[in-house]
Amino acid sequence: MMSEPIRHILSLSGGKDSAALAVYMRDEIPEMEYIFHDTDKELPETYEYLHRLEAILGKPITKTTAERSFDNWLKIYGNMIPSNHRRWCTRMLKLKPFERYIGEDKVFNYIGLRADEDRTGYISHKKNITPIYPFQRDGKVLADIHRILEESGLGLPKYTEWGRTRSGCFFCFYQQKIEWVRLKEHYPELYEEAKAYEVPNPINGNTFYWNDNESLEQLERPERMAQIRENWEVKRARSRSQAPNQKLIQILGNAEVEEEEPEGCLICQL
Ligand code: SF4
Repeated sequence: MMSEPIRHILSLSGGKDSAALAVYMRDEIPEMEYIFHDTDKELPETYEYLHRLEAILGKPITKTTAERSFDNWLKIYGNMIPSNHRRWCTRMLKLKPFERYIGEDKVFNYIGLRADEDRTGYISHKKNITPIYPFQRDGKVLADIHRILEESGLGLPKYTEWGRTRSGCFFCFYQQKIEWVRLKEHYPELYEEAKAYEVPNPINGNTFYWNDNESLEQLERPERMAQIRENWEVKRARSRSQAPNQKLIQILGNAEVEEEEPEGCLICQL
């Protein structure tokens, strides 16, 4: 009896780790399928990065766009913008479209979690999907990811140049306050777009914020932005004195720098 064929699928987030994994696995598994769970709310640099990655891989990246848009789902969820505790966005815009794309096929799903990360993935638990962690298998850490990206010519996503540490939706509630400040500086129109979601619910009058305790209107006050920048500088200086040999980008992406580095949208593998 012939065994069931297995599909090899690598989900890209638009971030450095999954991109490095794609480059790393390119020759090992030539039949690899590359997919990107597009929420249509990504930063422009993410689309540009994936476009360059496609050229390096020599293969197209399939977009698994959800049947309904973010705004559509938002209405269905009673205008409750997503949060760590109401994370319908990942489920509806990434996980479900991923499972639909796969169907009942047997799949090895390659995930870019590194050996120096202590995180678990927000991944599908369907029985036909087996997660594989090649970087953890091979002991690859952050420095290896930088080397893979440099050697391939891809480098880091351009959003890192203005201090954003993660891919994902421009309004992602996982971003740190300093990243909101940087979003406001670099993409004021996207900041406005994010702010426009923070409106009272027409039924009960409740307003949900992207940051649990602070509205974007409060956060954008010049004195508040200055304070967030100052706090971040202090933490960066402290982190640099603790790890003087780290490059700035490593520090920017280092959990020790910020108040908190909560688990991100790991189906997108940050
Ligand atoms: S990037 Fe953030 S906002 Fe976007 S789907 Fe993932 S968790 Fe939700």
